[in-house]
Amino acid sequence: MQRDMTISVSTPIDALPGISTVRKKSFLSLGITCLGELTEHFPRGYQARGNIRSLENAEDGVISSFILTVGTCPKSARLRGNLTITKFKAFDDSGSCEIIFFNRAYADKSYPLGSTHRFYGKVTRERGAIKLNSPESEPYFEGAALIPMVPIYPLSAGLTQKLMRSSVRRALDLLYRTSPSDSCIPLTPEETLPSEIRRRYALCSRSFAYENIHFPSDEEALKSAGRRLAFEELFMLSLKLGYTKHFARRESAPILHDTGLLARFFSLLPFKPTQAQVNVCDDIRRDLELGRPMSRLIAGDVGSGKTMCAAAAAYLALGNGYQAAIMAPTEILARQHYKDIGELLSRLGVKVELLVGATKQSEKKRILASIAEGETGLVIGTHTLIGDSVRFKSLALVVTDEQHRFGVRQRAALGGKAAGTHVLVMSATPIPRSLALILYGDLDISRIDELPPGRQKVDTFVVNESFRDRLNAFIRKQVEHGNRVYIVCPSVEEVAREPREDENIDIPNFFELSQVEESCELKSAVEYAKKLREEVFPDLGVGYIHGRMKSGEKQAAMDAFVRGETQILVSTTVIEVGVNVPEATLMIIENAERYGLSQLHQLRGRVGRGKDKSYCVLVSNAKAGSSAAKRLEVMRQSSDGYTIAEKDLEQRGPGDFFDSGDLRQHGRFKLKLASFNDAELILDASKAASDLLERDPTLELEEHAPLLHALDMLERARESTFN
Ligand code: ADP
Ligand code: MG
Repeated sequence: MQRDMTISVSTPIDALPGISTVRKKSFLSLGITCLGELTEHFPRGYQARGNIRSLENAEDGVISSFILTVGTCPKSARLRGNLTITKFKAFDDSGSCEIIFFNRAYADKSYPLGSTHRFYGKVTRERGAIKLNSPESEPYFEGAALIPMVPIYPLSAGLTQKLMRSSVRRALDLLYRTSPSDSCIPLTPEETLPSEIRRRYALCSRSFAYENIHFPSDEEALKSAGRRLAFEELFMLSLKLGYTKHFARRESAPILHDTGLLARFFSLLPFKPTQAQVNVCDDIRRDLELGRPMSRLIAGDVGSGKTMCAAAAAYLALGNGYQAAIMAPTEILARQHYKDIGELLSRLGVKVELLVGATKQSEKKRILASIAEGETGLVIGTHTLIGDSVRFKSLALVVTDEQHRFGVRQRAALGGKAAGTHVLVMSATPIPRSLALILYGDLDISRIDELPPGRQKVDTFVVNESFRDRLNAFIRKQVEHGNRVYIVCPSVEEVAREPREDENIDIPNFFELSQVEESCELKSAVEYAKKLREEVFPDLGVGYIHGRMKSGEKQAAMDAFVRGETQILVSTTVIEVGVNVPEATLMIIENAERYGLSQLHQLRGRVGRGKDKSYCVLVSNAKAGSSAAKRLEVMRQSSDGYTIAEKDLEQRGPGDFFDSGDLRQHGRFKLKLASFNDAELILDASKAASDLLERDPTLELEEHAPLLHALDMLERARESTFN
């Protein structure tokens, strides 16, 4: 390496010794091109080689560390084919053991008689004889730098742990260690976190953190390093969101005045709005008057009455002579909104149109023209609304329902259409507060924390297959009372591609899930509906609905159920969002262990919307005491969406809150060290970020220059992940 070369985080890795063009490619496939990226390639684990045992204390089957001296010359023998075995004896003060290697050609050179090494490997103890099979080793001598915890890295083909370790070691030395003998290299990398924040949240320095995440001096140091780096990651994410939010707020957007519009809207409602709904409408009214784009999330449990708030916002836009759009994730839901909101607003003399994939071509043409001319005030639809052909004359407000179901790209496309417009997002998935800070950090949040009066608790039961006859009798009883029943099953495709791939489920959980599934038959919606119709309820109306049906078929199935021509609807999770059938009093969920708690909660929210007592039955053969069984128990005990969401996050991780694959892939949500489960750290980091932005919203202060620089780097890294 050249002496006068300036070393920085962006110095290419082949500046390090031993990195050939071929190896450079191997590093590249891990996303590592420069020294900075190398130091951010964190170990996936550590070997505690520092706990030295004596041979007399060696335990069978336990991975342990020993300091041993080679007692016999290594002897090799050919076993079969090209497999050779090398054996020798080694000893410490307390005893001796046999060390065995396979295909280690130069073992005799590495382990000369009388040399001492630190060995690390799994012990086999048979009738008093101790063996170490293919242990890792390092030469041990006076002054040898043997680290207590050895990092194990994710690798790619062509790389070894040894090379990775030594490369990281060198990169750290170059970047993070002052070396008085070599003054041309600027050696103190900037500390990105202001010292005030480090003090308040008891965070170690950046150089300590990088050193100890790779080469921990002990577990305590590792913990403190991990905490600092995770904090920094979350802090930067929060800072980024807050910073972006600040700049977005500087754009202008139409000023929408209330002028008695809301009062008029309220007076025409068929019900008295809850205090929570009034508060949300107030938040919206205040946002719309500012002349800055609103970006607000309405978070409210299933059935809390978010639709009305969206309609109120739309009415404010229309009353000021602008247009509004409401976008729903499914056609069924778009139609439902069209019906509900259309009904509400038509009383106020507003023209509302529905635009979905299935809208006939000629009809579509007419609607598009009417939107372009500004004749249509409010258009409700699916993602077709973000299609290029849709042009608005004077769009002021975009509402998206069930936001988490839209991919990031769709969100971005809508944002493009809606530059300088107000954005309102509705989510029925109660999201734990910590996660909301990250998922929706760029939005203001209004919560609806109150259900309309008269709602009753849905009684929930967890049963197994042995209850089938009783369950069927119960279904019949509900139908005889004039009520309707949902039965949720996995979709046809889901059954075909078992086990489902869900990268966000952590390993033990996933393992258990697939075990449960093996032992219990999955019901597919179509087949199960057929069976019920033919064998169990031949005298009743049994319909089915699933995602692969044509839009018209879906609508017909839904309509038949709403009208009561079919009283039992076998369905996949298509019905999960938004559907409102007040006569539905029984929700049965087959193979309930397959779903996340939040999803189960959403499904359960489909019943209990009318005057009659409602029930939810979770059918599962999950073994008592298994984590699946515990999850279902949470459902039985709690009816509060937020409690359930917190438990869901605890038990399954954040996967379920990232519904769209698109979202999951997005760089924004890729965390290296921090975990979405660490609520406390997320709350701390985001508090630190918002405090800092309050003081310096544009990061102009001299002392915040490193932060601004780090944000820049983050942005560049994201762009490259995204492309
Ligand atoms: P969600 O928040 O799940 O979107 P909806 O807006 O669909 O809930 O409302 C659920 C049901 O509650 C609808 O039938 C709606 O008409 C009714 N509703 C909403 N607000 C009230 C209220 N304040 N009082 C009585 N019923 C209400
Ligand atoms: Mg809704």
